Amino acid sequence: MKQADIIVIGAGAAGLMAASILTKAGKKVCVLEARDRTGGRIHTTFAETGAEFIHGNLPVTLELLQEAGISYNDTRFEMFHHADGHMLQGDEPVTGWDELLDKMNQLESDMPLNSFLDQHFAGDKYAGMREEITAYVNGYDTASLSEVSTFAIRDEWEHDDDEAQHRVIAGYSAMIQYLQVVCIKGGSEILLQQVVRRIEWAEGLVHTQNATYKAPKVLVALPLGVLQQDNAVVFEPALPQQQAAFRDIGFGAIIKVLLEFTSPFWMEDTAFGNPAISRDTTRLVVSGEKVPTYWTQTEPGSTLLTGWLGGPPAREMQDCSPEEILQATLQSLSNIYRRPVATLQSQLQRWEVVNWTADPFTRGSYAYDKVASNAARKVLQEPMAGTLFFAGEYLYEGPSMGTVEAALTSGKNAAALLTK
Ligand SMILES: Cc1cc2nc3c(=O)[nH]c(=O)nc-3n(C[C@H](O)[C@H](O)[C@H](O)COP(=O)(O)OP(=O)(O)OC[C@H]3O[C@@H](n4cnc5c(N)ncnc54)[C@H](O)[C@@H]3O)c2cc1C
Repeated sequence: MKQADIIVIGAGAAGLMAASILTKAGKKVCVLEARDRTGGRIHTTFAETGAEFIHGNLPVTLELLQEAGISYNDTRFEMFHHADGHMLQGDEPVTGWDELLDKMNQLESDMPLNSFLDQHFAGDKYAGMREEITAYVNGYDTASLSEVSTFAIRDEWEHDDDEAQHRVIAGYSAMIQYLQVVCIKGGSEILLQQVVRRIEWAEGLVHTQNATYKAPKVLVALPLGVLQQDNAVVFEPALPQQQAAFRDIGFGAIIKVLLEFTSPFWMEDTAFGNPAISRDTTRLVVSGEKVPTYWTQTEPGSTLLTGWLGGPPAREMQDCSPEEILQATLQSLSNIYRRPVATLQSQLQRWEVVNWTADPFTRGSYAYDKVASNAARKVLQEPMAGTLFFAGEYLYEGPSMGTVEAALTSGKNAAALLTK
């Protein structure tokens, strides 16, 4: 049986951040990862299949990139919306926005967003507004309106600022490589294709499909989507309070589609390709199509277009084959840019449907707040008998929920607790 000072389960940003700090502090860490690669929801192939942007000047992420000597660019966005057959510059304005925020600010106790809208914005008069809000919350938060906290959405909208965004030039996986090297050089181990199935946490025993590992302390850095599944990972003794807490935090759904064409035909659209807009701007369009959102890269002339389907509509399509999802995407693009599907198909050079929602080692996108999430996080941040600890983007408290920053911060916090 292999032994270590600390076992970390999951080699995503949270697990590797914790493992690298613990390794630097002289601990022998054994990281167990189910896949044949590290990085989890960070994975750069011919493009970013998962995380892509640094959503602001986020301190933990930027400090780590600086320490690693990894460069990032500034990413400026130009927003478009496609409505009634027309491409229009700017976000789609939400009808009754001021009234909506006023009512949100008057709300005394939190409730799911759908219940709030039912109370204050029922009836045909508000149908358009509700559609716009649904599209936004599905697309951006990848959340379900029947679960997401009204307070959380209000706070997000009120603090929505125009801070600079960035992309890691070599791809986000470069950051993962760096953390991995720190661990290995410091004498820790990262073992791939080790699917953890059972944790006898009081004994510090972790069982995978073919081996058992032992350590006095175990850090579980698994995605919330996996922890919410019945029996995907079994805790012995059972942890009813923690299991309930996992379910009190929302975990969204996402399907991302990467499409590389022979040429950037989208620039031929007069509004979208408007030459008055700087060529090194990322253009993002939101439409009412089945796969509604698309964006371009920053490099002028890039032939890559990224499609995005979030929230309950992504969950509904999670069992579709990659080919079916590709066809739905091409049909959506055909409707937006008025080109036959067959033409788009013939110009497609490379594509990848990244169905994180169906993926057994993720089961969704990233966390969002439900009404009970703050209390749930408090439960999960508390170590069990000084032995069992949790880390992951879903445990982060702050304005950058559901991000790499959230995962790194949580990993850092867990490492501090583990070395106390
Ligand atoms: C499509 C998409 C786009 C995103 N875009 C952005 C973005 O632009 N900017 C941003 O900041 N964030 C973005 N995010 C969010 C960001 O990727 C995550 O918040 C972050 O990477 C999560 O890190 P983590 O370590 O908490 O979890 P993960 O990265 O999911 O790591 C958990 C690890 O546990 C492993 N695992 C699962 N089950 C087992 C098991 N049974 N045994 C052993 N190991 C197991 C997994 O394989 C994985 O490696 C995006 C996420 C997605 C899905």
